Formats: sequence, structure tokens, C-alpha cells
Amino acid sequence: MSRQRTDVAIQGAGMVGLFAALRLARAGLSVSVLDAERPPVWRGRGGEYRQRVSALNRHTEALLDADGVWAAMAAARVSPFRAITAEDAAGGGRVHFDAAEVGEPHLGHIVENDLVRAMLARACREAGVHFSVPGAVQGWAEEESALILDLGEGRQLQTGLLVGADGAGSAIREQAGIAVDHRGYGQRAIVAAVETGEPHGETARQRFLAGGPVAFLPLADGRCSIVWSLPESEAEAILRLEDAAFVEVLNEAAGSLVGGVTGSGPRGAFPLHRLHARRYIAERVALVGDAAHVIHPLAGQGANLGFRDAETLAAEVAAARERGRDPGGTAVLRRFERARRGDNLAVQAAMEAFHQAFTRGEAPLVALRSLGFNLTDRLPPLKHAFMRLAMGRALG
Ligand SMILES: Cc1cc2nc3c(=O)[nH]c(=O)nc-3n(C[C@H](O)[C@H](O)[C@H](O)COP(=O)(O)OP(=O)(O)OC[C@H]3O[C@@H](n4cnc5c(N)ncnc54)[C@H](O)[C@@H]3O)c2cc1C
Repeated sequence: MSRQRTDVAIQGAGMVGLFAALRLARAGLSVSVLDAERPPVWRGRGGEYRQRVSALNRHTEALLDADGVWAAMAAARVSPFRAITAEDAAGGGRVHFDAAEVGEPHLGHIVENDLVRAMLARACREAGVHFSVPGAVQGWAEEESALILDLGEGRQLQTGLLVGADGAGSAIREQAGIAVDHRGYGQRAIVAAVETGEPHGETARQRFLAGGPVAFLPLADGRCSIVWSLPESEAEAILRLEDAAFVEVLNEAAGSLVGGVTGSGPRGAFPLHRLHARRYIAERVALVGDAAHVIHPLAGQGANLGFRDAETLAAEVAAARERGRDPGGTAVLRRFERARRGDNLAVQAAMEAFHQAFTRGEAPLVALRSLGFNLTDRLPPLKHAFMRLAMGRALG
């Protein structure tokens, strides 16, 4: 039996787990990251786009910038979006948000998830984070001021705090006995990089259809990454289409959004669901990112919320340590949970309301939501408030 020690153990080397690891390591804590798979390595601008991309807001960008990771990402391959256009296919309502209206250069960036992970993993290694790959926590025992993690094959890790950053199906959440509220949307999101007739003009475009929204997110090479949410059965049929037929149905969905889709790269698909952990913490355990909450991707906020979780947890843990308090103690974890739960629930509720409003076809509702779009477009204070939220900034 071999036993190692670490201040913090993090299961999950996704964007959120790696960001938490970096922040904690930079605050002087020893950190071990366990993942079933090795984090990706960035192989240069010439490579094909990875299918998973995220719209990262200005707040997340500032976090990555503060940690010196953003510059490396920007030098690699990111695309700013300076504007967002959203339209309602059924009612014809339309709203256009332009960063220039609020004196900002852009609203956020479209970034490949694997690029974020690759650059964070590199920074983590430089900061002394220890990686255990493949690695997973099999279970744990509580001691007075530590958890003894069972890593299998006779290996143990003693830690003051275990962070579950292991995504929607979090094994840490399950092992900690934390229940979830969960609902499938009965939808899948199809993703692909596509060529469009008109230049994207660094604008993220979204069209709300009865089956779900289709979004065109600008990529640095001039193409767009689509996220098309569809009912399961429709998505399945569309995934089976040949490329030319796929482009045809996508064009129908896109309307005049991008001047026509002319070609598509390989497609991927992800089931969509909503999940919220009833608690974010247990004895010396904290959940962050998708392990704690999963939302509909229609406003591109899931990862952004996860970054905020990691930011808050790392700040609370670092502050406790500086004051000579137990960094994995209940008081610290409670402060983290209190700070994050309300924000995550509010965004989740807003996504739910959008989803409900846009997938229902009753005529009065269609008229009302288009009116909402048009009014927002013409009311600068309301419009600016939406833009602040999209950038991840506080209102007012
Ligand atoms: C189609 C789509 C589009 C989206 N677009 C956006 C967007 O534009 N903007 C945005 O902010 N968000 C977006 N999201 C949400 C975003 O992708 C997620 O919120 C984010 O990836 C969650 O990151 P995470 O690090 O918490 O979890 P994950 O990315 O799921 O990472 C979990 C990690 O844990 C590891 N792991 C899991 N189980 C175990 C185990 N038992 N043992 C060891 N390791 C394990 C996995 O290998 C993985 O590395 C989108 C989601 C979807 C589905």
C-alpha cells in the first residue's frame, strides 16, 4: 500500500477542473489532477478544427488572461464575436447586439474546448500540478482533517479537499451521495464546422425554430461552427444524411442568416439535458462545472458558469489557507456553495424559460416573443443589460 499527500485532489481535467487546478497551484497549494484520459496537446493552427467549441464571455477571458493563459490561446486560434444577431423564425422578431453600442471591442470569443484544455494543462504542469492519468477515485475514507482516497491497485492519496470536476455524470457526486434534479430535453445538438455564402463578420447568429435553435458561431478560418438543437428523432435522421442533403436541410433551418451554407465538415451530436446537484458540497468535497450543473447550450453559458465556480472555490480555499484556517473545512465550502448556487440556478432558470418560450407554437406566444425581440432591439437600456449579461458582467 503506497500513500501520497496533496492539499487538493481534483477529478476531471476538463476546462473547469484544469482552471481550478491552475488557480489553486498558483495560490501555493499542492494539487493532483486525476482523469480517465490525457488532456489534449495543441498541435498548431494548421490542424482541423475540433468539433467542440465554446463561446467564452469577457469574464472568462479576463480570468484566463489574469493567469497568463489567454495570450497563448489568442496566439493559437480564437475568433472574437463583436455582435450577436438572434431571430425568431415563426414570428419574424429580430434583435441585434453590437459590442460597439456599449463601447466594447467584442462580446466574447469562440474557442475550441481542446485548445483551452491544452493551454491550461500546459500552464498547470509549469505550476507544478501533478497529473494522474489514467486515474480515478474509487472511494474514500474520512479521517479527522483529511480524506484518504482509494485510487485502486493499492494506491492511496491523502487530501484536505476533493474537487469533483468530472462532468455531468460525475462519479465523485455519486460517491458523495449528492442527489440531482435532472430532466432530459429530448433534444440533441448537432455540431459541425460549415462554410457559408457570406463572411461571418465576427457575428454570432442564432435562429429560433420550433424544434430548437440553430446557431452559427464565427471561427478564425472564416467558417462557422454550428450548434443545432433538434428533437432526438429528427437529429438522428439528419445525422444519417449524406453531406449534400445535410447542407440542404441546414439551409432550410438557417433561412437568410448566413447567405447560405455551402459545405460542411464532419458532424457530431450531444444529448441535451438539464441537471442541478441538490448540494455542491459534502465533507471535504466540492463540485464544480458540469458536475454541479448542466444547462441548455442555447446561450452558451455552461462552461462560463463553471469557470466562475472554479474562480470562487479557489479564492475561498486560498483565503482560508492564508488566514491559517482549514482550506477544506466546512465553513470554506459553505461560503463557496452560497456564492455560486444562486447564480447558477438563475441562469439555469433563464435558459429553461427561453427553451420553453421558443419551442412552443401557440400563436399568442409566438407574437409575444417576437414583440420581445423587437422591443429589446429598440430599447437601449434593456439591450445593454442583455449585452452585459452576455459578457458575464454584473448589471448596473
Ligand atoms: C453542444 C454544446 C455546446 C456548448 N456550448 C457552450 C458555449 O458556447 N459556451 C459555454 O460556456 N458552454 C457551452 N457548453 C457547455 C460546456 O461544454 C460545458 O459546460 C463544459 O464543457 C463543462 O466542462 P467541465 O470541465 O465541467 O466538464 P467536462 O468537460 O465534462 O470534463 C469532465 C472531465 O472529467 C473526466 N472524467 C469524467 N468522469 C471521470 C471519472 N469517473 N474518472 C476520471 N475522470 C473522469 C473526463 O474525462 C473529462 O476530462 C456547450 C455544451 C454543449 C453540449
